[in-house]
Amino acid sequence: MKMLPFAVLHPTPLRGIRPAGWTQDFLERQANGLTGNVEVSGYPYGYKFWGTQQGDTKGSIAAWWPYEQTAYWIDGALKCGYLAGDAGLYQKALEEVDFAVEHAAVDGFIGPDSLREKDRWPHAVFFRAVLAQYEITGDRRYLEALIRHYRSSPHPMGWDRDVTGVEILLYLYQESGEADLLAMAEDLYERFNKQWPRHDSAVGTMLSEKKQTEHGVTFNEIAKLAAMMYCAAGKKRYLEAVVHGYEKLERNAMLADGLHSCSEHIKGKTARDMHETCDITDHTWALAYLLQATGEARYADRIEQVIFNALPGSITKDFRALQYLSCPNQVVVTGTSNHNLFMRGMNWMSYRPDHEVQCCPGNLHRAMPNFLSKMWMRTADGGVAAALYAPGSLKISLGEAETPVTITANTRYPYQQSVEFAVEPAQPVTFTFSLRIPGWCGGASLSVNGQPVQAALTPGSFHPLRREWQAGDVVRLELPFELALQRWPSDGVSLTYGPLTLALPIKAKAEIDALDTTTLQQKMALAENYQPRPVVKKPDFPGWDLYPESSWNYALCVDEAGLKDLKVDWNDACVDPLDAANPALKVRVKARRVKGWRIVHSHRILQSGHWTEKGQFRRGLRILQGDFKFTPPLPKRPRLADEVQEIELIPYGATLLRVTVFPQG
Ligand SMILES: [Zn+2]
Repeated sequence: MKMLPFAVLHPTPLRGIRPAGWTQDFLERQANGLTGNVEVSGYPYGYKFWGTQQGDTKGSIAAWWPYEQTAYWIDGALKCGYLAGDAGLYQKALEEVDFAVEHAAVDGFIGPDSLREKDRWPHAVFFRAVLAQYEITGDRRYLEALIRHYRSSPHPMGWDRDVTGVEILLYLYQESGEADLLAMAEDLYERFNKQWPRHDSAVGTMLSEKKQTEHGVTFNEIAKLAAMMYCAAGKKRYLEAVVHGYEKLERNAMLADGLHSCSEHIKGKTARDMHETCDITDHTWALAYLLQATGEARYADRIEQVIFNALPGSITKDFRALQYLSCPNQVVVTGTSNHNLFMRGMNWMSYRPDHEVQCCPGNLHRAMPNFLSKMWMRTADGGVAAALYAPGSLKISLGEAETPVTITANTRYPYQQSVEFAVEPAQPVTFTFSLRIPGWCGGASLSVNGQPVQAALTPGSFHPLRREWQAGDVVRLELPFELALQRWPSDGVSLTYGPLTLALPIKAKAEIDALDTTTLQQKMALAENYQPRPVVKKPDFPGWDLYPESSWNYALCVDEAGLKDLKVDWNDACVDPLDAANPALKVRVKARRVKGWRIVHSHRILQSGHWTEKGQFRRGLRILQGDFKFTPPLPKRPRLADEVQEIELIPYGATLLRVTVFPQG
């Protein structure tokens, strides 16, 4: 096994990983939904940017972003197709990987020449797909092609994201042991820190107390490199910086669904602060590197919270429409309902297959496949750790004799409070199997073949089980969930139950967006520079306007001491945990209506946006006229109705319209 010398944990190769149960179901929805029909997301999807040599701009206003966005899809589709067992989808993505690799320039450079001198960020995105194919097949030609690419020409540092080449260089170094690749990564990383010392992701800034305000994707993609550089070179300062950087993010910007705010810049932690869907993928991808560098379970806890809550909370449950910006409280989601200052009054919060800016419709495909790819980790002592819990299995070789072992996680977690692992070695073999005890779980218990393990299971740690494993061994981990109260600005409260955030689902009147608001917005943004391109519309992939049809303006009559009186109803008849009509569990909570807490209705709004005026593309603040309905902030001094009612909260991921952060009553 190869891992970077200072890493504590390292993910197992994709080829040994299989989904099952709800993770298999999720991937199949992807494959039948947007991942397998990506052309409905509009240009540049459906065009083979990496899979053709027809020139690199194809009429785009800038050359790099179609490469970034199509690479997101290729990476997600390749992994989704492989993991879901969808040979057609896998092949569709692989063709583009193979074309680009086989059509490298004479010196080894892969991709369009226009990206040689600047804009190497799309390469970092695309090469993740190439490395995934290497992990699936073990074919070193993919590795060698990327090494030749990096040796072909000096790596530019034209803008901050150019530094993301470090991620790929360190992977290549780890697999090949070639010292010049580490030297290139170190050089690139130093150049970034020297050129942008005040960047939120620079080592010095991460060590300081400065609050992050950086673009969310940019922050995660660059900040995590410090964790990787530590794993490769062992410089403690890098590790301290990235750990401190993410502690600040947690403190200043964490939202109730487990993901930090980024709209698109990191900002706030109120009930109406929101995040770009891209960051569901990028934050969890980054946290996995912190997990590898530190071995600390808290990063895995956080990855689960994002994937179990924020991810399904930002999509329709058939995986046919996504929000660009999603929010803990969203009581109206339409073509004009985005309440964030950035692009206020536009359709950026609506569930739709296409969005005006196309990063999220590409990046979304990667979230679940990447989660599965980090579920199992090799440990530095040659054992294996179950780092993230969900149904699925791992095939791996362990022990001195490299004995094949299959470990299957039989569970519906997080819709069940236990995980049972079946361990099946081909021969008896001794290794350490480490199990994560989540930080939120004070009452965990463990048994092997029915015998309780007599050891303290510390929340927020990995518990090692070292023994000679035999075919038929069963490890059972009980993870009793507990209700917890989280506090938010403006005296807001929310409830969590184990890894699940709870929310009030709001019944919605759903109307199809017949106006094609994304095209309208693109025309408004680009005016005479707008280039009409063939749009692929499929009737079963509409954009939606959702209006509330049930009451939502409640204050929760609960405090920390009252949590013990709340009853959780688990639903054994739940078939699909994302079905709000038949959810995995319900929690009944006393609540009172809040008088006057209603949708904000405006005709004149201030927006920070972009548009074209007199032929000039402009960015900044402007006033817009129209008819706008927005989710309101929490009331300053809630006026409560006398009547106490009971409302039912369900897992956040099953909701579309919702209230998650409530006033307290
Ligand atoms: Zn995005």
